[in-house]
Amino acid sequence: MGGPEVERLIGLLAKLPGMGPRSARRAALRMLAQPEARMLPLAAALAEAARAVKPCSLCGNLDSLDPCAICTDRHRDQGLICVVETVGDLWALERAQVHRGLYHVLGGTLSALGGVGPEDLNVAPLLARIEHGGVAEVILALGATVDGATTAHWLTDRLRPSGVGITRLAQGVPMGGALDVLDDGTLATALRARRPA
Ligand SMILES: [Zn+2]
Repeated sequence: MGGPEVERLIGLLAKLPGMGPRSARRAALRMLAQPEARMLPLAAALAEAARAVKPCSLCGNLDSLDPCAICTDRHRDQGLICVVETVGDLWALERAQVHRGLYHVLGGTLSALGGVGPEDLNVAPLLARIEHGGVAEVILALGATVDGATTAHWLTDRLRPSGVGITRLAQGVPMGGALDVLDDGTLATALRARRPA
């Protein structure tokens, strides 16, 4: 149906999170009905984002600026770093407007099953930031999963010798829960009621 161009478009759309073949077909049809209004602007936005957006060399956030807009915001508490697993978690905390410090994106968690070791995570730049000085507290805002807990313990051991304060999110993050699916109120409570790690 529709030729190889349409098949390819649907195949690519279906690989996106939250999309399956059915929703990919619907999206493709909607765009094809109005190529000038919907398809070309989307294609331009995709190309522009692919060209301009890169991980921040300090924190790992995605932005067209490097360092990112958060890292260069002088109104933020430069002595407070919130460590998260993914950029999605960072964006969730920003949406909740509960954290007025900086961030550090690990890029995942340690995972014995998934074969993810310390060298696969964005840890060395975090240690360098702390070594550089001026950091009073690191908040470990990792998901309430076995791997999240393992990673928090491991990081706590790594950070302890630096003398920096280390806290973790309190109650409110359900077991097995990822941060970016929580509602803003729950996230805010978990961050405010953080406790020493
Ligand atoms: Zn940054």
